[in-house]
Amino acid sequence: MSSDIPDADDAAAGGSPATSDEPEANDSPVEEAAKRTPTGVPLRVDGLVKRFGGVTAVDGASFEVEQGSLTGLIGPNGAGKSTTFNCITGVHEPTAGNIYFKNEDITGLKPYQIARKGLVRTFQIARELEEMTVLENLMLAPKGQLGESAIRAVTPGLRGEVVTQEEEIRERAWETLDFFEIDHLATEHAGNLSGGQRKLLEMARALMTDPELVLLDEPLAGVNPTLEEKLLDRIHQLREDGYTFLLVEHDMDIIMNNCEHVIVMHQGSVLAEGTGDEIRNNEQVIEAYLGEDI
Ligand code: ADP
Ligand code: MG
Repeated sequence: MSSDIPDADDAAAGGSPATSDEPEANDSPVEEAAKRTPTGVPLRVDGLVKRFGGVTAVDGASFEVEQGSLTGLIGPNGAGKSTTFNCITGVHEPTAGNIYFKNEDITGLKPYQIARKGLVRTFQIARELEEMTVLENLMLAPKGQLGESAIRAVTPGLRGEVVTQEEEIRERAWETLDFFEIDHLATEHAGNLSGGQRKLLEMARALMTDPELVLLDEPLAGVNPTLEEKLLDRIHQLREDGYTFLLVEHDMDIIMNNCEHVIVMHQGSVLAEGTGDEIRNNEQVIEAYLGEDI
């Protein structure tokens, strides 16, 4: 779209037909994602190790996430789920092992570099964002794209394109708010949202950047049942539209009832993998969770 600077004459003429080989510009983020060609295995974690001093948090974990899947990563407290999540998203640098996204080695890249490749995670709404409205939070989300266009803003002749892109982002923000049914909160300060509404906003922010793979670490923790249902419903809808999800959860039931593929971590490595039913009846998994308050 960046090379597609509208010609003033064309715009005035009004009726210029869209070129047939271009995707429709007004498709929703969800529709755009559905058009993408599947890449098979977007995420592959290979022999991941992460040590913090003498503590081995992740100890040789290997697994894959299939294109278009809703994959669950579960395990008892301290199993290494969050550390794995943080290594995948660039928050921690792995001690050993590799992470591949769409066959590209992304091990050790910075979080923003990984996000730009289409692998995103949710972030808690930071203090300074609490002062901003819900709509502003979404407008700020695709910062990378805006940063690039800011350079074009000072390039003579290209200013119009930046305006167009800002309009696009605003439109997409409203679409995303509508999708998560928080459009009525658009002018509310993010700091005034309930816990569950915040989770919806965090997901909406992640979706603004048009990702291919979305990682969620305990997205339903502390969310009331009504909003929990809404969040899960949205995840399923997005999944059906072509997005891929890796859901990290401590709560087994949420994963069992929603994910078609389940990976179980225990003591830093993968203990079992399979469908919910397979995992539910796996003796080793039951044992790993024994004594846990779940
Ligand atoms: P989970 O998310 O499955 O509950 P974590 O990945 O948070 O597990 O933690 C795995 C292990 O690594 C735990 O023993 C935890 O105490 C340890 N750990 C996690 N992060 C750190 C850290 N920053 N420094 C030291 N130890 C850590
Ligand atoms: Mg955790």
